[in-house]
Amino acid sequence: MPRMQELRPPALARTAPFFMHFISTRGASPPLSFADMIVAGLAPDGGLYVPHEMPRLAPTQAAEDWNATALKVLAPFAGGAVPLDGLARMIGDAAATFDDPRVAPLAPLAPGLHVLELFHGPTLAFKDVALQLLGRLIEWRLKSAEREALIVGATSGDTGSAAIAALRGRDRVKVAILHPKGRTSEVQRRQMTTVRDDNVLNIAIDGTFDDCQSLVKALFADQAFAAHVNLGAINSINFARIAAQIVYYVTAATSLAGEGEVDFAVPTGNFGDIYAGLLARAMGAPVGNLIVAANENDILVRCRETGVYQPRGVIATSSPSMDIQVSSNFERLLFDLSGRDGATIARLMRDLAEKGAFTLPPQMHQGLRNAVRAERVTMAEADAAMEDVWQVNRRHIDPHTAIGLVAARRHKRAGHPMVTLATAHAAKFPGAVERATGARPSMPARLAGLMTMPERYEEMTVALAPLRARLSAFAEGAR
Ligand SMILES: *Cc1c(COP(=O)(O)O)cnc(C)c1O
Repeated sequence: MPRMQELRPPALARTAPFFMHFISTRGASPPLSFADMIVAGLAPDGGLYVPHEMPRLAPTQAAEDWNATALKVLAPFAGGAVPLDGLARMIGDAAATFDDPRVAPLAPLAPGLHVLELFHGPTLAFKDVALQLLGRLIEWRLKSAEREALIVGATSGDTGSAAIAALRGRDRVKVAILHPKGRTSEVQRRQMTTVRDDNVLNIAIDGTFDDCQSLVKALFADQAFAAHVNLGAINSINFARIAAQIVYYVTAATSLAGEGEVDFAVPTGNFGDIYAGLLARAMGAPVGNLIVAANENDILVRCRETGVYQPRGVIATSSPSMDIQVSSNFERLLFDLSGRDGATIARLMRDLAEKGAFTLPPQMHQGLRNAVRAERVTMAEADAAMEDVWQVNRRHIDPHTAIGLVAARRHKRAGHPMVTLATAHAAKFPGAVERATGARPSMPARLAGLMTMPERYEEMTVALAPLRARLSAFAEGAR
């Protein structure tokens, strides 16, 4: 990977008022430009890339549309690396794939309590907001570098379909997604396997999600293979995804802020979405309290209470996208809480790998308590919330949103609007929604035909060599 300095043309350095670079949370990797960061996965030292300093947000007004706010949020991160007219075009093209011109509209549930609808994109989950933009950024980057790439990912559901929707039909890039055979919902599988573009390959692995993820990790560890196919990742550790998610905190907070700083309850798994909220607040948006809403997989709630971060076995719940043992993006907050001390983070992560847990130093633990609130919500409580909203508002919410809503109600402050992030459309989880409410959610137009369209996927066992051979052939042109 080229160093930042080599990539910075002198003319740009003179004209760009600000040129962000990205450093590793573990402090031992060279910095990258935004352009290189978007196609990199983990830093070579195992850390995650974060901006070397936090920009301030240019003033925004409630009347501004999505595209204008998105450009203000993203330009400080991408400016200098991505030409601003190109960035504006990619933002607009990504937004145009949403079925609501506001992209992330707010809907009132009760006085002072709102739902932020993040499910208007092609795959009906919030991951589209970031991935539709990232897909375009990756295509732009490969074109400017005159390269091709193979993006490989493992999915338990939402990420795979959003990645495929973002990359299908794009130039210079192919995408292969591994899913655990028979372990995703039918809607989730069909959103991946009914895509016909020749640059998309779906592989059903006869194993668990963890098996899929281990295979992907092994592919990345094989440096000869990774270099041969120019292997890339699109997972939630990519900072460009976080940056794109800051936008809806800014639009929501700006439009409600007349009533006081705005609090957000965030259904949390990998900590990416809520971390974007922390950054929105750090950049100066009128964001008040941020509430981590967890299901039975409550590692973050326990860590906030005790200062000890200790993964346990994953519990399967009705909100599967939050069934996560280790919240990768949490490392980014820890880095900030440590005073951006990469050596401390490297030590904590070594403890996690070697002893199965780490303990926060008292100052970092206090910092965590100040930064976020946290709530654990059971499946029964989520079901009750789904039913209640159905009875009172005649509205279906999905099980992930329901977790957020329960946490939102517990933390509602007088004088502060509270926003629950609606991370998926109820129709993605029809079984769980119908069990809780007695009524089946209606299918949005986007899903019409999905259940009858032909599927295309290959099946493989949990074995690296044949997978590597198949992916090499795919990268070289054979579908
Ligand atoms: C991915 C996902 C989440 C969790 O988001 P993180 O950024 O991983 O915390 C919550 N809800 C839904 C529907 C998701 O797809």
